[in-house]
Amino acid sequence: MNEMRILACLALGLVAFCACGAAPARAQSERPSWMGVAVAGLETELAAKYGDGARASARRGMEQVASFWRAEDGDRAVFEEFVRASFAGDAATRDAIFERFERVFDKLDGHMHEIGTELRRQADLDLGPILPVDEIFAGYSPSAHVSDDFFANKISFVALLNFPLTTLEERVAKGAGWSRREWAEVRLAQRFSRRVPASVNLAVAKISAGADAYVASYNIWMHHLLDDAGARLFPAGMRLLTHWNLRDELKANYRDAAAGPAKQRMIMKVMERIVTQTIPRAVVDNPAVDWNPYTNEVAAAAVKDADVEPDVSATNEREPDTRYATLLSTFKASRLVDPYSPTAPTLIARRFDESREIPEERVRAMLEQVCSSPLVSKVARLIEQRLGRSLEPYDIWYSGFRPASPRSGEELDGIVAAKYPTPEAFERDIPNILVKLGFDRGRAEYIARHIAVEPARGSGHASGAGMKGGTARLRTRVRPGGMDYKGFNIAIHELGHNVEQVLSINDVDHTLLQGVPNTAFTEAFAFLFQARDLALLDLPVASDETGEAMRVLNDFWGTYEIAGVSLVDMAVWHWMYEHPDATPAELRDAVLGIAKGVWNRYYAPVFRKKDVVLLAVYSHMIDSYLYLPDYPMGHLISAQIEKKVAEAGSIGPEFERMATFGAVLPDLWMRNATGSPVGAEALLAETADALKIVSRKGARK
Ligand SMILES: [Zn+2]
Repeated sequence: MNEMRILACLALGLVAFCACGAAPARAQSERPSWMGVAVAGLETELAAKYGDGARASARRGMEQVASFWRAEDGDRAVFEEFVRASFAGDAATRDAIFERFERVFDKLDGHMHEIGTELRRQADLDLGPILPVDEIFAGYSPSAHVSDDFFANKISFVALLNFPLTTLEERVAKGAGWSRREWAEVRLAQRFSRRVPASVNLAVAKISAGADAYVASYNIWMHHLLDDAGARLFPAGMRLLTHWNLRDELKANYRDAAAGPAKQRMIMKVMERIVTQTIPRAVVDNPAVDWNPYTNEVAAAAVKDADVEPDVSATNEREPDTRYATLLSTFKASRLVDPYSPTAPTLIARRFDESREIPEERVRAMLEQVCSSPLVSKVARLIEQRLGRSLEPYDIWYSGFRPASPRSGEELDGIVAAKYPTPEAFERDIPNILVKLGFDRGRAEYIARHIAVEPARGSGHASGAGMKGGTARLRTRVRPGGMDYKGFNIAIHELGHNVEQVLSINDVDHTLLQGVPNTAFTEAFAFLFQARDLALLDLPVASDETGEAMRVLNDFWGTYEIAGVSLVDMAVWHWMYEHPDATPAELRDAVLGIAKGVWNRYYAPVFRKKDVVLLAVYSHMIDSYLYLPDYPMGHLISAQIEKKVAEAGSIGPEFERMATFGAVLPDLWMRNATGSPVGAEALLAETADALKIVSRKGARK
């Protein structure tokens, strides 16, 4: 159903599950042989009955139905009877059908969401032990078969017969001229743009679970890494997931100017071994062996920091391209779905044309605009000044642009715990928080009435209601002594999501337009709140002008890094579609070539080193189906919204105006919000300003 409304964001968060997939190659040929004649005959018949003006819409609607009709849906007589009964030949009937769908889907989505929330209650909330039965409830999806059911009972065909199915090209070309009602009709038809058989969805889910498991168990035991002098640079028991812990550890080491660089170089070497698949198979998630990543020597562990015996038989035989076999498996899963998705017949098209709704060429142009900006080398030289050395390739993850905090972590924890001893205390304070953010008192209370705060088992998430009048849930972690600062910081981020959810469900004119264009937009709202967390504690805001400039430079450098990673991800998916029979080894060589190519073009001139493969290390590239470009796009969109809000001087009214525009095309949404389409200019402009401020105040710190 409406996956955008359920957010478990933050670091890993955003992976909304892709319905990408796979399809037995027979879909297109499934169209019954009588279909062409039947459509032509009915077109004449309907034009005679309703007037020639109905001819074009009847033809389009029947073609849309025909593209999904299968033998099991009925023979020619059933098809003809269905069209005669369900085609709306006059405006009043069409309005009535539209109104039914709009009302029913609001309720259907909302109640399905409520059922799902109840089923997951014990699993999601901090309410004591999870019993086996709780896990079964949590794993059950009441809406899993809705799509199948609605094709079986022909509800889907009623929508397809009467409302236009569009391609992104059409939406981009004509969308600016459509009325709100026309947009709602487009969104209605889009719900039925794919008819993927349950068997295919199951196959995709199985392959995806395998890819996730590969990523989730890919750990490196850091105490078992040896440098050339035999020294262990990392503490005992440190087990880092390649997916994100390795990068986090690399970033954390910027705080240690003396010992940090040696650790960072070693992490970079481990990453290179993973990407090139020269990593010994035996060292993956295995504390029984020691490993020198530089020489690639492997030996039985000479220290013990886990409950295993040293493995004396381990060799340095390399991992046999499993990384690339896993990536290939997700490509093959995607191809299974292709034949069932006529308006977006590749995973690449589904990602850009449906999930993001920004044409791939435009996304690529924006990413290249960031990567080739003259600001990159200026920020790079500033980082070199701050580090007191030349850049190393791993400095694409430089994390030193941080405002100095006048308060210690313990002090902040104490302030937050006193203010919010329980989730209820946080819930009661929401109206005050919103007023501090510039919302009108009455509106703040209205929004707060729609938000319930509940104790999360994990770090927190925001779950919007599925229908008008429903409750958005803010799940947050509150320890027995009260909320700590980290929990508060996350809760404020989630509150940003909740406020967007409340407004974009309840205050949008058409329920079929509820929400925002894609996940990057709701993340932008969440970051808007999160960046102001200290002010919400009534603390003097630590970040003066320089602090804000630091935040911008940090965003810019992170965007530059992840934009290159995204360009690699995009090129790799094109390569796979162009080489559908590639072996894992061929894919490995292609990925290495692509990663080096992007590096040499956009990074080598800045880092003064060629042929680096680090851009290919992201695990999202292996298991997340071309998801990575969402990250840099999120940065660009955030910068645009942040800039507009800064100009307005207050969040509240601008937030309301933006969030109630609904899920139209991203560019139309952004034009309404800021006056410009989605683009990189806001980020680049604020980066240029930030550079001036930081240079003026003196770079070294
Ligand atoms: Zn988020």
